[in-house]
Amino acid sequence: MAEEKPIGPTLVWLRDDLRLSDNPALHHALERGGDVVVAFVHDEETPGIRPLGAASKWWLHQSLSRLAGDLESRGSRLILRRGAAAEVIASLIDESGADAVVWNRRYAKGARDADAALKKALTESGIEVHSFQANLLFEPWTIQTGQGTPFKVFTPFYRACLAQPEPRHPFPAPETIPSGAAAELPSDDLASWGFEPTRPDWAGGLRERWQPGEAGAHERLEAFIRDDLGDYGDRDFPADDTTSHLSPYLRFGEISPFQVWHRLRGRVPSSAQGQVGGFLREVVWREFNNVVLYSTPDLATQNYRPEFDEFDWNEPDPAVLEAWQQGRTGVPLVDAGMRELWKTGVMHNRVRMVVASFLIKNLLIDWRLGEQWFWDTLVDADDANNPANWQWVAGSGADAAPFFRVFNPELQASKFDKHGEYVRQWVPEYGTDAYPDPIVDLKETRRRALDRYDTMRRKA
Ligand code: FAD
Repeated sequence: MAEEKPIGPTLVWLRDDLRLSDNPALHHALERGGDVVVAFVHDEETPGIRPLGAASKWWLHQSLSRLAGDLESRGSRLILRRGAAAEVIASLIDESGADAVVWNRRYAKGARDADAALKKALTESGIEVHSFQANLLFEPWTIQTGQGTPFKVFTPFYRACLAQPEPRHPFPAPETIPSGAAAELPSDDLASWGFEPTRPDWAGGLRERWQPGEAGAHERLEAFIRDDLGDYGDRDFPADDTTSHLSPYLRFGEISPFQVWHRLRGRVPSSAQGQVGGFLREVVWREFNNVVLYSTPDLATQNYRPEFDEFDWNEPDPAVLEAWQQGRTGVPLVDAGMRELWKTGVMHNRVRMVVASFLIKNLLIDWRLGEQWFWDTLVDADDANNPANWQWVAGSGADAAPFFRVFNPELQASKFDKHGEYVRQWVPEYGTDAYPDPIVDLKETRRRALDRYDTMRRKA
């Protein structure tokens, strides 16, 4: 009888899934038996993959460093490499003797194409390759309209999601991970990647605000359920701060949507029970935006609605764009939001809508420039959520707010920051001589925006 071939090491290639619990690729590697090599590749060379912004890199540095510690406490280690992923993975296979590679799926077009090509090449060379659903509750191609097309409107999509079987239960974190000879593989020093800003070190506010990593994600979720879920219905009031702050953890996969879903469906304070559905609905917006991204790969650069290609944006005045970026527009709610973003790497959702509307409609600056600024400064900057939400505000997106709905930042402030707490927190000089006058007249620029919109409609 032929002897059974021993199982070789399995290479687990981590990407947007920086966690040990509920990690189907890692789970599969352990079930397969044999040693497990866990690697992360910093790839700015593969075409079609959007390079991370500065705030995301800061987050990633912290997250990888926490993950490395978590792996070490289980007898394993994180191998860090830099370069075009296809070459790096091939080299790691050679060096470790791995005969299988596993990963969790990504959904942006460039990443999907790169993964498909790598899977094909590796399979042809006799390596076993498996990919898994880990970061979305519903894969974008699985939820379709009765006509077999992708949903373009959120509410029916959401209903279709709820009609699906309950998402699978999360996998537990492994207690140990056998690493064998892989423990000796060379690994980059994370500091050499330069993700931590030095001169100038602008990340002080981020350090103060966040605890990236898997443990931080679960602590955040528990604190949210305990302290804020009951008030989630009041989430539009930025000073009350009743949202979960899970977005960067979901972005980098330090927690999975399956874990969030089932934790929310489990025990929550009885006074918060009524908010569970509303919260999970927001989580499903993230799924919907991935459907939009899946059907419109160039979502960050192309209008989802092509009629917006005719829109006549202003040539951006660098001084005006900079005033917006730095929170010096003289419009208090806009400035508060932009300063919150700069300091903490996030901004309250309602204020994101207000600052985006101000840039697009009052300043008539192309939404793509705002999207790029957010991409660089948000710790939750996301291939699907960022461009989809910018296009939502611009009116050019799927199920978007109509262009003619121009947020008036003063009215928004009087509704959602009635006592000015949020503005005072971020713009302490508001109300003094040190605070500038508005750079534009809100009424006049609103009228100008609507005229531009009419011109576009006549052309389209
Ligand atoms: P919660 O209210 O606690 O919601 C829970 C989770 O649901 C969030 O973590 C997020 O994953 C998801 N979610 C909530 N609202 C939305 C939404 N409108 N669209 C998609 N998913 C949502 N979100 C990002 O994750 N990354 C981005 O790059 C991003 N860019 C945005 C740009 C603009 C112009 C706007 C208007 C919104 C953007 N959002 C983005 C959506 C939203 O503002 C954030 O998800 C939310 O503020 C994160 O805070 P939270 O985790 O406390 O949200």
